[in-house]
Amino acid sequence: MDNLEQIKSRINIVDLIREYIEVKKAGANWKALCPFHSEKSPSFMISDEKQIWHCFGCNEGGDIFSFVMKIEGIDFTEALRILAKKAGVVLKKQDPAANSQKTKLTDILDAAASFYSAELQKSPSALEYIKKRQLLPETAKQFRIGFSPQGWDGLIKKLQSGGVALKDIAYAGLAIEKDGRFYDRFRGRIMFPIFNHYGTAVGFTARVLPEFDDGKMGKYINTPETMVYKKSEILYGLNFAKQDIKKENFAVVVEGNMDVIALHQAGFKNSIATSGTALTLEQLNILKRHTENLIMSFDSDSAGLAAALRGIDLALAAGFNVKVLEMPKNESGEPVAKDPDELVKKSPELWKKALSSPKHIIEFYMEANIVKFNMGDPHENARFCQLILSEIGKIKNSVERALWIKKLGERTGVAEGDLREMAKQPKKENAGYSNEANTLPRKQNNIKSESLDSKYLSLIFTDLNKFSKSFKWVLPEMLETPELAEFYKNLIFYYNNARPFTLTGFEGWLYSIGNKSLILEQLVLLRDKNYVNLEEDELEGELKMMVDFLKNNFLKKQRKILEQEMLLAEKEGNKDKIEELINKFKHLN
Ligand SMILES: [Zn+2]
Repeated sequence: MDNLEQIKSRINIVDLIREYIEVKKAGANWKALCPFHSEKSPSFMISDEKQIWHCFGCNEGGDIFSFVMKIEGIDFTEALRILAKKAGVVLKKQDPAANSQKTKLTDILDAAASFYSAELQKSPSALEYIKKRQLLPETAKQFRIGFSPQGWDGLIKKLQSGGVALKDIAYAGLAIEKDGRFYDRFRGRIMFPIFNHYGTAVGFTARVLPEFDDGKMGKYINTPETMVYKKSEILYGLNFAKQDIKKENFAVVVEGNMDVIALHQAGFKNSIATSGTALTLEQLNILKRHTENLIMSFDSDSAGLAAALRGIDLALAAGFNVKVLEMPKNESGEPVAKDPDELVKKSPELWKKALSSPKHIIEFYMEANIVKFNMGDPHENARFCQLILSEIGKIKNSVERALWIKKLGERTGVAEGDLREMAKQPKKENAGYSNEANTLPRKQNNIKSESLDSKYLSLIFTDLNKFSKSFKWVLPEMLETPELAEFYKNLIFYYNNARPFTLTGFEGWLYSIGNKSLILEQLVLLRDKNYVNLEEDELEGELKMMVDFLKNNFLKKQRKILEQEMLLAEKEGNKDKIEELINKFKHLN
């Protein structure tokens, strides 16, 4: 039996798929709602007997390997590795997964994690620190917390003795080369392995032990981005939180890794961290497999709040339901703890209470902003309304939007009809997020800089000759903003008819057809802001993610429209129309 067969014989496909989605018995087989396309009645079937899956909605299918590849968004090599580990099968030398560079690096990182945790046991001061932070030994074990000894080559020597090449240690982000010599990147630090969402250590975040802190080095340092560590894809703790997120059907997103560890220790196991950055498309894509409900928790003095709010916009646009948990305050209005770590250690009950009454993100925006406006003044009241309406506009669901407009009316005394009218009007100023800088009036802006549409367009401008391939995947009608859809249509037309393509040529042509908007200028700015520093494969990854999002959003919307038309046709008893609609439906998938 070769490795593939051996793995297949040890992992039952129903059990495997059940880890990701809910499955129900259907005769001799199992059925489920397809995780790869959106549907209301199950067309995703699993055969226990044949150990295969197939979706009759989107026509995807295969075995355990193809399922893991598709749902995790990984290649065969990685799927093989994950499933081999799960099955307890040791891969042979000739297996691709045993040979890939990625595997080499994750093996090194894994060995490093083991080395660091052994070192922790040898260092009384590191153990003392762990104890001071109120981390139990079993927590330290679960999160593989360790210690990197002082000295310059403790880890390097250990890894070299196992036959690991110096350059690979450096590629894994664990060693630094200087003047031809290699030395350990991490020294005298408490080590926290960073796991990807299926539990492989891909990097480290390291906190200096107080006694070694000379104030000159960073309190925390991280592994740099490597072939296996992509910060934008990591949600710290997700490997431990997956099951509970699914069970509770929501995820609690906190800022710091220490918060996650403390929360898990206290039994709040659906907590994950963005590690201080705004949520990215990649992270949202991963999260969406587990839940669409997020509770965001910010530190009381959050420097990262503005950034976090950008991530929330992205989450809203991707259809997530977002609520905000605020640190409880004492009688004099001071927060009782600075972050979840401190709060849950003070009292798990307090955290539980805060968790039970999160604020919807719009509610949060309203409260954070209303104090900044003199609501008795009609002009200021209107500005407040505009600001909140721009947030409401980011919510995907139209019914939900309508309900929030109603609430805004109640809050401000402005008639609902007027608010709806106002929501339709193009904004005179960019009413952005609730942070200070963005509430100031700005020059006219025609695009929302962080919408999926504008991000997509600005990304393809990084290298249009290369990314024009996405013209065939993303059609103009898939963009939500009418001005951008129009712009995109023009871009495709011009690109296909005027070679070689140059930005100035395109700009001149736009001008000549009477299009004098600032869109091109803004997209180029947005491109430089977001994408200039990315490597080619990162851009490719980002693009792929966006194309998926845009396509799925579009398909969802089209389905909804067809469903409504179908209802109407059924009411009218119009058989031809029904037939036509069924046909259209089939073509959508
Ligand atoms: Zn499907």
